[in-house]
Amino acid sequence: HGVLDDVEAAAACIFQNGITAIVGIPMQVSYLARMKKELFDTHIKKVLLSTDYVADALVKSLSRNGTCQVFNHYGMTEMGYGGGVECACLSGYHLRENDLYFEIVDPITGKVVEDGTYGEVVFTTLNRQAMPLIRYKTGDRARFLVETCACGTFLRRMEKVRGRIENTLSVEGHEITLRDLDEIFLAYESLMDYRVECYDPNRLHVRLVLDKNTDAKAFQNALKQELHVRFQSKFDFEIEIEEDDRSSKITRSMIKRKIHDCRQGAKR
Ligand SMILES: [Zn+2]
Repeated sequence: HGVLDDVEAAAACIFQNGITAIVGIPMQVSYLARMKKELFDTHIKKVLLSTDYVADALVKSLSRNGTCQVFNHYGMTEMGYGGGVECACLSGYHLRENDLYFEIVDPITGKVVEDGTYGEVVFTTLNRQAMPLIRYKTGDRARFLVETCACGTFLRRMEKVRGRIENTLSVEGHEITLRDLDEIFLAYESLMDYRVECYDPNRLHVRLVLDKNTDAKAFQNALKQELHVRFQSKFDFEIEIEEDDRSSKITRSMIKRKIHDCRQGAKR
């Protein structure tokens, strides 16, 4: 089918061809699953997610009480796409060690951290001739898992990437990541998409796209309460709600997501 850009066309393709497994970008697949719930009731039993990190809330939502297996893939263009993938135990990527040598380092000092400690993922290509990379910094935050996977693989295992280091925003001395927000927002089944911008020093502007059958006022109150509890009022959230226009088109913002730091002097 190719890249998912139109939910209606993708759903028709899945129905017509009796497809049971799909590969896609997390927010795109989430949009498909939320727009076309029946697809996941009757057809899709396996999903492989790639390109962007994957929030646990998204996996939980897609797995539908275990009726659908959600696999995570890790890779980037510089790795030659594939870096690692989860086995059926769904507990961390099994790394492609025959081609890539992975390290986890302290992002400031560049020194290798102890196994099991979080840091920045760095990799070296082992047998590439055209564009070899040595200790290439990915900007991704993760850690190695020290225990052997239940499948018994000898390959090194890495916990699911926890998001890009650059998607961390420091507001009034407190840090907030896109992942933190994903875990909260994506747990709401009626949320189709969202975007976060920061203009003022301590205020985050959140634009939410909700399913049109949602009670926006009740949603906003519930979310405000949850944000208050989760962040103990360290951040001031301004919430704007847009009704989903039921467009079957998938937007660019669902592909490469980021926190938009629009404060003066912020790196764009
Ligand atoms: Zn395994």
